[in-house]
Amino acid sequence: EYYLDNIDQRNAELNVFLEVWADEARQQAAAVDEKLALGTAGRLAGMVIGLKDVLAYQGHSLQSSSRILDGFKSLFTGTAVQRLLDEDAIFIGRQNCDEFAMGGSNENSAFGPARNAQDPSRVPGGSSGASAVAVQADMCLASIGSDTGGSVRQPAAFCGVVGLKPTYSRISRYGLVAFASSFDQIGPITHSVEDAARLLEVMAGPDGMDSTASQQPVPAYSALLEPLPHYRIGYLKEAIDRPGLQPEVHDALEGTLGALRSQGHVVEAVDFPYLDEMIPTYYILTTAEASSNLSRFDGVKYGYRAPDATDLESLYKKTRAQGFGPEVQRRIMLGTFVLSASYYDAYYTKAQRVRRLIKEKTDELLRQYDFLVLPTTPTTAFKIGEKQDPVSMYLADIFTVQASLSGVPAISIPAGQDAEGLPIGLQILSGAFREAELLAFANELT
Ligand code: GLN
Repeated sequence: EYYLDNIDQRNAELNVFLEVWADEARQQAAAVDEKLALGTAGRLAGMVIGLKDVLAYQGHSLQSSSRILDGFKSLFTGTAVQRLLDEDAIFIGRQNCDEFAMGGSNENSAFGPARNAQDPSRVPGGSSGASAVAVQADMCLASIGSDTGGSVRQPAAFCGVVGLKPTYSRISRYGLVAFASSFDQIGPITHSVEDAARLLEVMAGPDGMDSTASQQPVPAYSALLEPLPHYRIGYLKEAIDRPGLQPEVHDALEGTLGALRSQGHVVEAVDFPYLDEMIPTYYILTTAEASSNLSRFDGVKYGYRAPDATDLESLYKKTRAQGFGPEVQRRIMLGTFVLSASYYDAYYTKAQRVRRLIKEKTDELLRQYDFLVLPTTPTTAFKIGEKQDPVSMYLADIFTVQASLSGVPAISIPAGQDAEGLPIGLQILSGAFREAELLAFANELT
């Protein structure tokens, strides 16, 4: 009732929930109360959770905040969502996002932008923008988002909450609408690192429905939050001295590094030679994968169908022209271009080779150091409408795509605020499948 009240008060203004499942949530809560009385409740009993509109939940609308899925209801429940349900989480509603998770401001939604609860003239970040606002504004305890190139971490930073992207393959992608399949990961957005650990340990693990989901056993993350006294921590010199980095973001990072040093950790600057290659590599590969993944939306199988088609080809064309928003169309065209016969080697193959270099260097650094620390974003939350040029929006992903290109886990935690009181995020990366260590360290820092 507390969360439903908060939704009532601010949802119209902040445009967070596309749908609130009030009656269902009350029924789930009553059932959980009974189980609690019997001592049979699951590990997440009472956790009230919002779902980004990219997660399949049987019988519930699923639209990826796109017109092209108008009227579509999910036929099955995805693995991560089912595991939450099985542990007695309560689902309160479906959350706005950038269309097909493409964006960094939640402005690309067919339902209009979600707004930052601290300053509604500003974006909450994206693509899981509304999911971060929901936690920020106490409309649910935690949200489940997805992160392809920063979509959990960046909005968490803009909203002053915790956002975790697990190792690629740690959580099954079955039931997650595909954007770029070799990058996509489900991740929790929470107030605390401990809540992130609890959600991760429930959602993670092998799954017969996703052959890419890792077979590695899942540690009890929430019981492993004790940090070690001494860590080796690296930070990217080029990142911290980068022109365009907001001075307060720079200072917050320097402050944290200084504090870590004085606590006895080894803190060293490292060279990372590929910072400028990361954005082009990420956007070539993800648009290529997206152009393939989104070919299934043709007006035949799902959701929206153009009413004025005259034959099959015009049905495809009209449905896609009317159903997809401008950013999604731009990415399908970019992806189709980089995969086209005469450009494939120049762009796609080349980008895959650069991805390999970035991954190898990142893995090497994460063998030398326990963690890499860098900003989550170059600036704090910007104004709605401020970034009109898509390239300037893409460039703001500079610090989040490294973990995505490399497949390693990364977490954004709150690290103070700027002169206007807007939250600053600090990002920590660890080696693949070292979430236990990552969470313990992040917990210590929050
Ligand atoms: N902002 C990035 C993009 O637009 C990240 C999106 C995401 O992680 N889903 O691709």
